[in-house]
Amino acid sequence: MPCPPPTSSVPARWPRRVRRGGLWVGGVLVLAWVASLFGMFTWQHGNGLIVGYIRGRTGVTMNKFGWGSQFKRGWTIQSSGRLDQVRWLPEWHFGSAKQWWVWVPLWVPAAAAFAGAGAGWGLEILARRRAGLCPRCGYSREGLPRGAVCPECGSAAA
Ligand SMILES: [Zn+2]
Repeated sequence: MPCPPPTSSVPARWPRRVRRGGLWVGGVLVLAWVASLFGMFTWQHGNGLIVGYIRGRTGVTMNKFGWGSQFKRGWTIQSSGRLDQVRWLPEWHFGSAKQWWVWVPLWVPAAAAFAGAGAGWGLEILARRRAGLCPRCGYSREGLPRGAVCPECGSAAA
């Protein structure tokens, strides 16, 4: 019986990288989202420009007239347990060069990362199937009768 190729020889490695990278990035974004619910993390440039993330959203505000000028220069960390103030939707405004903002909820890039991970996972399974490997664990199905379960992980034949 021929020795099966090691699992690492699964063709098309990039779908797996996309899957793992997407899960990582999505997980980090979820953690950042949770952290942002507990307060405001902002960096104020000193002339009205604010970068940070506040209650579920990350973004940039340039506001020389309004609340932008109320922040002191440098980092501001304000705790705020007001979960009813979580912002779920993006928000933007372009008034002038001195007054504009763009805020994006962190669930948007997190969802994109998880969607990418899902797509990578699907491509991974397709690539295994095409190469005659078990779609679940990557074990070579060479020489196995059609319909036989995988001897490595016991999953049914695709
Ligand atoms: Zn298997």
